[in-house]
Amino acid sequence: MDLDLEGRTYVVTGGSSGVGLATMALLLEEGAQVITCARDLPRLQAAVEPLPGAHRVHAQSCDVRNPAAVAALISSGVDYFGGLDGLVNNAGGSRMVPRAEATLDDWRDELDLKFAGVLNTVDAALPWLRRSDAAAVVNINAVLARQPEIRLVTTSAARAGLLNLTKSLSLELAPEGVRVNTVSLGLVDTGQWRRRHEESGTAESFAEWEAQIAADRGIGLGRFGRAEEVAAMVVTLLSPRSSYVTGADLDVCGGVARYV
Ligand code: NDP
Repeated sequence: MDLDLEGRTYVVTGGSSGVGLATMALLLEEGAQVITCARDLPRLQAAVEPLPGAHRVHAQSCDVRNPAAVAALISSGVDYFGGLDGLVNNAGGSRMVPRAEATLDDWRDELDLKFAGVLNTVDAALPWLRRSDAAAVVNINAVLARQPEIRLVTTSAARAGLLNLTKSLSLELAPEGVRVNTVSLGLVDTGQWRRRHEESGTAESFAEWEAQIAADRGIGLGRFGRAEEVAAMVVTLLSPRSSYVTGADLDVCGGVARYV
């Protein structure tokens, strides 16, 4: 199936690692152009450089919490490529803290990242998305939105808010032809988990450590996901082939979600 992405342009935030990098690589493989950002520009550039199609990437340093920086990213990317067809709001991470230890700043920072990181890109991109014949936004979320974990209390609550916000955006923007969907992740083998493995000080290899966590958490498929497996679903939702899908939440979680 031709996903009809060739020549189209997408913003992917947080492109230097994990899900963002895999999504960018797949969009390039499909012939699309990508505007991307991360805070650490040298790391982002090092990640982009080896990708086939890297000449179709516009990469810039930008913290998605900063509206002026996001506006500058999108306007320079659109100047470069001449238009915009979609957004993947991916930048971010999780915060391992139980409620009794969470400070008010933890709560504020989490909401800032999960909400501003989406609202800033949507606001800056909307004038361009309205001109696309197939505009689509995908917000990367987590099954924590509906299945909270007490050791990730701030992240779980912020994820629930993002799920709700995404539905509101989908309702608001549908009449303008802009589709908005969520992809909710379980446990995906990316930089986040590699860092946690290192910080745990365990003598186990990453594979052994990951297999034990997969068993403890009851992941149906018995393993973590791969960033490429997430990217495939994100890119499908961006594609004009998904033209009748909006306001949806797609779990990519190997069966770890227990809700119906
Ligand atoms: P990684 O840690 O591998 O990559 C995160 C990317 O986001 C990096 O490029 C990072 O670059 C960038 N980033 C982080 N904060 C900001 C910011 N404020 N502004 C701009 N860029 C930023 O993460 P994953 O690929 O694992 O995660 C991608 C998304 O999926 C995140 O939103 C995460 O919360 C979510 N998720 C991941 C899960 C998993 O198991 N991996 C589970 C559930 C959700 P830099 O640090 O240079 O800014």
